[in-house]
Amino acid sequence: SSYTPISLNDCIEDSIQLVWNELKYNCELVKNLAEISTIKANFGQIEQVIVNMLINAKHAMEEGGTITISTVNAENKVTLTISDTGSGISEKNQEKLFTPFFTTKPVGVGTGLGLSISYGILQDHGAEISVESQLGVGTTFKIVFPAYSE
Ligand code: ADP
Ligand code: MG
Repeated sequence: SSYTPISLNDCIEDSIQLVWNELKYNCELVKNLAEISTIKANFGQIEQVIVNMLINAKHAMEEGGTITISTVNAENKVTLTISDTGSGISEKNQEKLFTPFFTTKPVGVGTGLGLSISYGILQDHGAEISVESQLGVGTTFKIVFPAYSE
């Protein structure tokens, strides 16, 4: 496969670089990264997943807020969490999140493809994605990767 050992932390840093000009105006960013975060992955695909999540978080925080990105390396898993203090997602919409073309954004702003494409990418990586969200409080996406070991 095209998967190679990569540092998930490096991938996060690159993803932030790509979107920082859009985020910097009203988003505070908190990083809490594990010392070692090696996974076997396609760097560009995981970057695509993280970039979409950062932009989604920004869109959910019209009035500004905080995005927290964490990695934790434990028990042969590397867990990535991306939290925001945005609008939150209703329970009904949480069920549709990973469905192609589900979007609450105006035509031309959202395609509704980001999370469905991300879901496929993560499945290919043997990773699991889950969401916890509360309306008016915020949203946390959690992605659990198998840790790379030689
Ligand atoms: P798009 O960003 O093009 O709408 P996505 O698949 O990335 O498509 O997201 C689908 C929908 O999920 C968004 O339109 C939004 O309603 C919801 N969503 C995703 N992430 C968040 C978030 N962090 N906070 C609130 N809603 C979210
Ligand atoms: Mg999106």
